[in-house]
Amino acid sequence: MSTQFEIRGLKATIEDKEILKGIDLKINGGEVHAIMGPNGTGKSTLASALMGHPKYEVTEGEVELNGEDVLEMAVDERARAGMFLAMQYPSEITGVTNADFLRSAINARRGEGNEISLIKFVRQMESKMKQLEMNPEFMHRYLNEGFSGGEKKRNEILQMMLLEPKLVILDEIDSGLDIDALRIVAEGVNAMRAEDRSFLIITHYQRLLNYIKPDFVHVMMQGRIVKSGGPELAQRLEAEGYDWVKEELGIVDETVGQA
Ligand code: ADP
Ligand code: MG
Repeated sequence: MSTQFEIRGLKATIEDKEILKGIDLKINGGEVHAIMGPNGTGKSTLASALMGHPKYEVTEGEVELNGEDVLEMAVDERARAGMFLAMQYPSEITGVTNADFLRSAINARRGEGNEISLIKFVRQMESKMKQLEMNPEFMHRYLNEGFSGGEKKRNEILQMMLLEPKLVILDEIDSGLDIDALRIVAEGVNAMRAEDRSFLIITHYQRLLNYIKPDFVHVMMQGRIVKSGGPELAQRLEAEGYDWVKEELGIVDETVGQA
């Protein structure tokens, strides 16, 4: 079955402050959707709320992946159902090597009795790391500890490649990447595009979308998707910024003095 992901009327709060004010979004299998928007509009909140981060409370709405109720699932169940988030700020975990972490994540996804063999795992990890032009020593380093911004982002993409998720959410995967790293990361993502895999790409800048071509572009402001279109929308945002969207829709900045 081709992947179907749908968000309906999603509202979420953090520390009792409403950040998401009713998000609607439908993603079919094989599609790449981009969400763009100014800083502080709730893009990362959306990503975290979808993955079930405990800090965010969903107060209203529905999320379905292939007909299953995502909001009913625990965090690990969401991962097992095929959801994956490459975080804007990946956490560092001392004492757990990258290889250990990845193998546990893969096995959690595959389920008991179906664990990946060590040889197969190492072979896959080596080949994907090569593809991402990562130094093999990163396999044995503690997860993200002392990794540069770009190395963390590559490592997120490595996880994605090994986990083969159905729904991939990339939160500002382009931030902190130089142009070569950006190209490598984008090639990794493009190689994963498939009929039964969907992507939600969150980005502040259009640049990434020169490398990963979205089918749909959505503009998020103040906790809502206020405009949707094709790739041309991203190009206009790049050229003209976000002010024209605000003017067109009569959106007034909530915070005085904020750019
Ligand atoms: P974006 O990713 O679009 O830049 P975020 O989702 O990170 O936006 O943030 C949306 C709003 O939620 C901002 O006003 C931010 O200050 C607030 N926010 C995000 N995380 C927290 C937090 N942990 N505690 C309090 N407020 C938060
Ligand atoms: Mg963010």
